[in-house]
Amino acid sequence: MAFVHYIIYFANILIVKNKTNNMKIELKSAQELIKASPDVMCGFNQFIFGSGEPKRSNYGDKSQWYTELQGYNYAKKMAEEDGIAFTNVFKCKKEDCYPFSFGGFFVCNNCGGKGVDKEWWKIQVKKDGDCFCCHGLDFQDLQSSNNYAFGSTFEESISNYESVMLQLQPNL
Ligand SMILES: [Zn+2]
Repeated sequence: MAFVHYIIYFANILIVKNKTNNMKIELKSAQELIKASPDVMCGFNQFIFGSGEPKRSNYGDKSQWYTELQGYNYAKKMAEEDGIAFTNVFKCKKEDCYPFSFGGFFVCNNCGGKGVDKEWWKIQVKKDGDCFCCHGLDFQDLQSSNNYAFGSTFEESISNYESVMLQLQPNL
């Protein structure tokens, strides 16, 4: 009898440990993934954290903008080819919602307020044979998770994932 208790006790520890591990999955920044100049790292992180493509300004330093853009595109390439995790800016709830990063927060002119971003905006896209699978960072497998979608291209899998997640959202 004590042996059975021991097994149950041990099984519970494993379950708790698994849950804890899942919650620790986080985005990796440029500092953890690449070695490059500060401007490249900056552009790289703009992709990872969903801040949008570096904007060319009439007043800013053009070579700095260009270098940041190289970092941004490099991160995007790694997301497509190596499946690194990144933030994709999705709609909030409504069709006419287009949130964007502003002053360190995600804001939406339609919903109003700031901090409209969701945990499910953090994704990974993996190549799976001829198609792509987009999933949230706490995704486990196709049987036990529902936060995933397939597509024939990188972009299509992300767009299909958005449709799935917007339908699930009330339960998130
Ligand atoms: Zn909105």
